[in-house]
Amino acid sequence: MSDASSTLTIALTKGRILKETLPLLAAAGIEPLEDMSKSRKLTFETTAKGVRLLLLRGSDVPTYVQYGAADVGISGKDMMLEYGAEHFYEPLDLGIAKCKLMTAGIKGETLKPGRIRVATKYVNVAKRFYAEQGRQVDIIKLYGAMELAPILHLADEIVDIVDTGNTLKANGLEQRDFIADISSRLIVNKASMKMKHQQIEALVSAAKSAITAQ
Ligand code: AMP
Repeated sequence: MSDASSTLTIALTKGRILKETLPLLAAAGIEPLEDMSKSRKLTFETTAKGVRLLLLRGSDVPTYVQYGAADVGISGKDMMLEYGAEHFYEPLDLGIAKCKLMTAGIKGETLKPGRIRVATKYVNVAKRFYAEQGRQVDIIKLYGAMELAPILHLADEIVDIVDTGNTLKANGLEQRDFIADISSRLIVNKASMKMKHQQIEALVSAAKSAITAQ
């Protein structure tokens, strides 16, 4: 639990998800007291009494929620797939920051038979996907600029998020296999769901109404 009192701590994801999350929170009556994208602070008080926001990397949001450092979290389904969704409840698909998890490789190049190298930050997702395909792979963990890996022969394929496909195209790559549809999800710490049920229910139902109204 974030603390013994009735403070509700909500962990948000920096970047493009934040931009789309703030209007939903505002519709639920929760607005940060200062501009989160301009501040260097990591915690923010809000217009809602007893509600505090944290600003994290998407990959850290599930961890904060699992261990109760945050009661509620908002991050991409890609993070849940990678981290394992059994550690928290996932009551709501916010339907924002939509994209796809795909494999990609050099345009026009056919994949060689046998064992291949795959570069990604989604190590668990990639392992599961290629195992289901019956393909032997060596996974290379990268933290960014995945598109470089096939070009520099570090990897035969990558597993990454694709939205418009422009980033792949600009780097001479093409989309190959679809892995999953992604959108941002609201997740809840299991103990908080019991202990702060009313506050969380109110937040979930306000967010639901805001999504329907959009
Ligand atoms: P695009 O060129 O539109 O296909 O965007 C691709 C890049 O933007 C990827 O490398 C992702 O890192 C990032 N990206 C696109 N959509 C999202 C999203 N919904 N959430 C997080 N990152 C995204």
